[in-house]
Amino acid sequence: MSAIEVNTTRLPLLMHELRLPAIARLWPEFAERADKEGWPAARFLAALAELEIAERGRRRIERNLAEARLLPGKTLDNFDFSAVPMLSKARVMALAAADTWLSNATNLLLFGPPGTGKSHCASAIGRALIENGFRVLFTRTTEIVQKLQAARQALQLDTAIAKLDKYQLLILDDLSYVHKDHAETSVLFELIGARYERHSMLITANQPFADWNKVFPDHAMLIAAVDRLVHHSIILEMNVESYRRRGALERKNRQLSASSKNPKEAAAV
Ligand code: ADP
Ligand code: MG
Repeated sequence: MSAIEVNTTRLPLLMHELRLPAIARLWPEFAERADKEGWPAARFLAALAELEIAERGRRRIERNLAEARLLPGKTLDNFDFSAVPMLSKARVMALAAADTWLSNATNLLLFGPPGTGKSHCASAIGRALIENGFRVLFTRTTEIVQKLQAARQALQLDTAIAKLDKYQLLILDDLSYVHKDHAETSVLFELIGARYERHSMLITANQPFADWNKVFPDHAMLIAAVDRLVHHSIILEMNVESYRRRGALERKNRQLSASSKNPKEAAAV
């Protein structure tokens, strides 16, 4: 047995020890090609290193997508910007490409009536940011408030909030649905305070601030929370007809115009 063969048989073990799964899987194919095409050793090594790095990046994005709990199937590609004329597509695309807003801990506030695509848009921005290498968590505000409340009861609130620091963006969907309950909203206040000027939040709500006194019963707390949220923020308003209702109306209108072309059917309706 030659020295090369001895080393080769140990390779899977060595690659495993070094945690290089992509190289472990693909090196024989690359080695064969390198031998055939007479690659210099440095080129062979560089190709393997690039391969491992690329796969590591892909795996990281997959893990980040799995932990982000985004809404399935909601992307910027399938978001119809023409339905929300006051929302600039170019602006949203720039935000999704991360610009500098995440590193400046700027908040993004999306306001609009129910059904106007706030959750869709928020989740889609989150997805694009993850694909660009950031870590994001999407959560209903009521859900995270319950979790933080449980953490507070276990005297673990600071730890629970600190754990969220790993996400460059925390998406709180439907802030205005949080119940007016002092214990609940004070954890939300703590969270807003802890992230202020350190990490971004994307918040969706039906109304800009007007009904937030239902969320923060204490007026001083409301003022302080809004102040921290808006200090460094981008506010996008989506004041349009509900996308669902528009779809239903369009379907109904189509049915009506079809039946008016066919009087028999119209009589039956
Ligand atoms: P909101 O969070 O404002 O209540 P959603 O994001 O839940 O609204 O939107 C309601 C439904 O309509 C979802 O299925 C969403 O994907 C769809 N929708 C809303 N706006 C748009 C849009 N502009 N383009 C494509 N789908 C949309
Ligand atoms: Mg929503």
